[in-house]
Amino acid sequence: MTKYIFVTGGVVSGIGKGISAASIGRLLKNRGFKVFMQKFDPYLNVDPGTMSPYQHGEVFVTADGAETDLDLGHYERFTNEELTKSASITTGKIYSRVIQKERRGDYDGATVQVIPHITDEIKKAVYKAGTETDADVVITEIGGTVGDIEGLPFIEAIRQIHSESAVDDVLYVHTVLIPSIPGSDELKTKPTQHSFKQLMSQGIKADIIITRSDGAIDESIRNKISLFCDVPKENVIESRHVDLIYELPNVFRDQKLDEIIMDHLKLETKENKSDAWVSMVEHFKKAEGPVDVAIVGKYIQLHDAYLSVSQALLDAGYELGRLVNIHYVDAEELTDDEKAEEILKKMDGILVPGGFGERGVEGMVRASKFAREHEIPYFGICLGMQIAVIDIARNLAGLRDAHSTEFEVNTPYPVIDLMESQIGIESLGGTQRLGNYPCHLEEGSKARELYGEEHILERHRHRYEFNNEYRGKLREAGLKIVGINDDLDLVEVIELDTPGYFVACQFHPEFKSRPNHIHPLFHGFIEAAMERRDR
Ligand code: GLN
Repeated sequence: MTKYIFVTGGVVSGIGKGISAASIGRLLKNRGFKVFMQKFDPYLNVDPGTMSPYQHGEVFVTADGAETDLDLGHYERFTNEELTKSASITTGKIYSRVIQKERRGDYDGATVQVIPHITDEIKKAVYKAGTETDADVVITEIGGTVGDIEGLPFIEAIRQIHSESAVDDVLYVHTVLIPSIPGSDELKTKPTQHSFKQLMSQGIKADIIITRSDGAIDESIRNKISLFCDVPKENVIESRHVDLIYELPNVFRDQKLDEIIMDHLKLETKENKSDAWVSMVEHFKKAEGPVDVAIVGKYIQLHDAYLSVSQALLDAGYELGRLVNIHYVDAEELTDDEKAEEILKKMDGILVPGGFGERGVEGMVRASKFAREHEIPYFGICLGMQIAVIDIARNLAGLRDAHSTEFEVNTPYPVIDLMESQIGIESLGGTQRLGNYPCHLEEGSKARELYGEEHILERHRHRYEFNNEYRGKLREAGLKIVGINDDLDLVEVIELDTPGYFVACQFHPEFKSRPNHIHPLFHGFIEAAMERRDR
């Protein structure tokens, strides 16, 4: 029997609803329950895969190849569970399913409407998440804030789930902002009361209110919320400011949120593994001494565009006892080698992450060259591997003007080229090489040493690949091809023999790094950056 927790947001967006939901997931996991997390996004895109990172931040990719909202990254990092396509549902996805059925004639001549057809499809997505994964608890976060027009069908669907389930099978959590009046620091609960009422007018009564505020909420504020929002005082949970996001589950546990949820949902357990998370956070907080790492990309104005990469860097640092200072470097600013030197010379590590389109590419190639020539640890991810290949082709193999055909179709040396399977594909949505693919690692390589295993499985999101025609030429120039997908004969990992670290991969390791299981390539990179720093 699966239980359902729904997390809605009120007052304003951007108050950490996703991290609150993820923290609830961690709390329940600590108590031994199997948790599956899911996000509803009310926009019309089928998935965020076609959206600019400036619109929506990073596109998080699941093992089964879904392009999803970045909140799924929080869910996976906090719960250490691999999510699936069922974890990411948008209005676009729901409508296209319904319209497909209508065209097939599945509705037997009925007039197809938001209620019941759209809401049924939404409910199906919730129930399916439960049955498919056999989870004890499915936690569903509803994107946006209560009252948004596009969110209405989702709110109606989760209301219906309550009316068709036993009372102790469904729990509603509402997250709100308690603003303070500038100058007086007085906290105001009125917006919370309004938001609660708005939710009530749509048939949902919040069971737990999670508050975000500048200062601590005192007894009187708690009493007020309890009175006006009709929840017991102890169900008003404060989401305090924390230095590390991973502290939030502990903050919630101190307020007994796990017990409150278990009481409400009649979940029983004797298990309590909360201490491991607490000691992880304590260990992380002891990290000191900086290590400077540059992320050289083109979407740097919005740090969320590199959320999983930066979180994996920070986490690797915490684990190794060091604070990673991330410098977001605009690739377009690296206009020549001198400029690259000026900006990058103080760095202990240089990372070129994934990306699309031509802008900034030459600057990234300069970053790879600079790292290589100065033995600064380099870590290339997806586009970052393609960049390193271009740099090595041009500057070590003497293939002048070598390029990727993504950026220069007429290059004399197309060292990176469109994958065979991509030729002829015109539609942009969901058509890249996506999700898990296996790779084998060569004996004696840095990657093999770090992973400690020969066969790995990593997540992908790209259309272009290393052009196998250049394997020989680039090998002669010093490139080591150390990771191969045997089925498709694709290059997955390359390295250079340097005293530091020069590793680049076609896949996205950042999606698999967890605070309590740091990804080996991030671990190795930060370790190398620390060594350089200490020298
Ligand atoms: N634009 C490159 C490709 O499609 C790299 C993609 C990425 O970095 N995710 O192959």
